[in-house]
Amino acid sequence: MSHPALKKLWIGGQAVDGETHIAPLLSINPATGAVNHEVAAAGAVLADVAVRNADDAARSKSWRQMLPPQRAAILSRMADGMERRSEELAQLQMLENGKVWRECQVQVKSAAATFRYYAGVCETTGSEVTPARGDYLSMSVYEPYGVVAAITPWNSPMTMEAQKVAPALAAGNAVVLKPSEITPSTALVLAEIATQAGLPAGILNVLPGTGAQVGAALVEHPKVRMVSFTGGTESGRRIAETAARKLMPVALELGGKSPHIVFNDAPVDAAVAALAGGIFEGSGQSCVAGSRAFVQRGVYDEVVAKLVATARALKVDLPDAAGAEMGPLATFAHRDKVASMVDAARLAGADILAGGHRPDAAHLAAGAYYLPTVVAGITNQAAIAQQEIFGPVLCVIPFDDEADLIAQANDTAFGLASGVWTRDYQRAWRVARALEAGTVWINTYKQLSISTPFGGFKDSGIGREKGINGMRLYQQPKGVYFGMAALS
Ligand code: NAD
Repeated sequence: MSHPALKKLWIGGQAVDGETHIAPLLSINPATGAVNHEVAAAGAVLADVAVRNADDAARSKSWRQMLPPQRAAILSRMADGMERRSEELAQLQMLENGKVWRECQVQVKSAAATFRYYAGVCETTGSEVTPARGDYLSMSVYEPYGVVAAITPWNSPMTMEAQKVAPALAAGNAVVLKPSEITPSTALVLAEIATQAGLPAGILNVLPGTGAQVGAALVEHPKVRMVSFTGGTESGRRIAETAARKLMPVALELGGKSPHIVFNDAPVDAAVAALAGGIFEGSGQSCVAGSRAFVQRGVYDEVVAKLVATARALKVDLPDAAGAEMGPLATFAHRDKVASMVDAARLAGADILAGGHRPDAAHLAAGAYYLPTVVAGITNQAAIAQQEIFGPVLCVIPFDDEADLIAQANDTAFGLASGVWTRDYQRAWRVARALEAGTVWINTYKQLSISTPFGGFKDSGIGREKGINGMRLYQQPKGVYFGMAALS
C-alpha cells in the first residue's frame, strides 16, 4: 500500500522525516511474507523533539483553557474520521498483523466508539465540592499530567491506541504515541485524522520505532510525566523501574495466562464454543486469551473431544479469504517461538491432540501460520501451562472440586482474566470472588466493554483502563480551598 503519511513520523501537527541514522521499519504482511511498505523510524533525538513539542502544546492556553465541550467535539470528530476511513484502517491492520478481515473491521468500530465514549466522559464528569470542616469551601479538581507517553503492542493496535489516546486527551494531556514496530501504520493515520478533526498541533504526536530506540527514550524523558503501556510483562517491569526512579505514575496492561473453567453442570456446547473462541480468535494473540482450560472430571472427556473437533474444523486461511476464522500469527519469529514452545511440551510428554504444526495447504506456506492446537496430558505446573504463549495453543487440565480448581487456577504469576461456566449462580459468585484476576466472565467470554474497568492482578499489570476512571487515570487530583471568613 502506498500512503504518503506512512513514510513520515508525526510531530507538532505535521509529517516529519525519520532519523537519518535509524533504518526505516519494514511493514511486513505475515499472511504472505511480502513487504507492505517502509515506515520512518524515530530514536532518542526525535523523541526529545516530540516531547518538547508536546510539552509546549500541553501548556498552551489553547489546550489548557479549552472547554470540555470543545475537547469533546474534537474527540467526536476523531471518531467520525475513523469511521469514514474504517476500510483503510482495517486493511492496514490486516496487512500488518494478519487478523482476519471481519475482526479488523470490528476493531476499527470499537476504537471509534472509544473516542465517542471519552467525548461523553470529558463533557459530563466534573470537579467535586468536598465536605467542609470549617469556614471554607473545599474542592477536588482534576489536572492533566502534561505529556503522556502511550506505548502499544501489535496484537490489537487500533483498540489499544484508542484506549490510551482518547482518555488521555479527554483528560487534557498531550500524548506521544509509540506504536509497535510491527504495526506502526494505523497510528499514523490516526494522527492525520486528529489534525483534520481540529486537535491543536503538538497534542498528538506519533513516533514509530523500536522499544529500545524510541520507547525507552520516551520513558526516560524528564518531561514525560506519565506512561501508559500495554505489552509484555518483562517490558512493563523495565518501564516500571525507570518510572520508580522518576517518581512517575504508570499504567501497565501486561500479559496473561487466563483460566477458562468448565464445571460438570455447564452447558457443554456453549462452553466449548467459548473455549475455542477464547483462545483461537486472533490466533491466540490476545492478552485475555483463555489459554488454560480447567475442566471438571465429569465432563472432561466430552469437552476435550468436542474441543479437538472444533479446533480441527476451524478454517485457517488468508485473512481476507471468505469464511476465514483464523489468520497467521503476526510475525514469523513469533510463529517460530510458539512452535518451539509446543515442541518442548511434546518432548516433555504432553499429548498434542490437535494442531501442533503449521498447516499443510500450499497457499499458506509463505505465511506465518500455525494450526489451532490443543495440549493435554499435562499438569498446571508444566512449562506450557505457566508461560504465556500468545498463540493458538490451549492447555486442557482436569480438576476435581471447587477447592482444587481455585488452587490450580490461581497458581500462576498472571492475573488478567478468567471465565467460569456453570448453571449454579452461587458457585459462580464464590468462584468469581476467589479468582485472582482483573476480569471474570461468567457463562460468557471475551465480552469487553469500554465502560467497564480493565486491568490485571499480579504480573498482569498495574492500574485500570476504560470506564470513567479511565480518564481519571490520566489526571491528578488537586485540592482547592476558598477561605469563607469575611475579608477585612
Ligand atoms: P512488547 O512488550 O515486546 O512491546 C510492547 C510495546 O512496548 C512495543 O511498542 C515495544 O516497542 C515497546 N517496548 C518494548 N520494550 C520497551 C522498553 N524497554 N521501553 C519502552 N517501550 C518498550 O510486547 P508485544 O510483543 O508487542 O505484545 C505482546 C504482549 O503484550 C503480550 O505479553 C500480551 O499479553 C501483552 N498485551 C497485554 C494487553 C493487556 O491489555 N493486558 C493487551 C495486549 C497485549
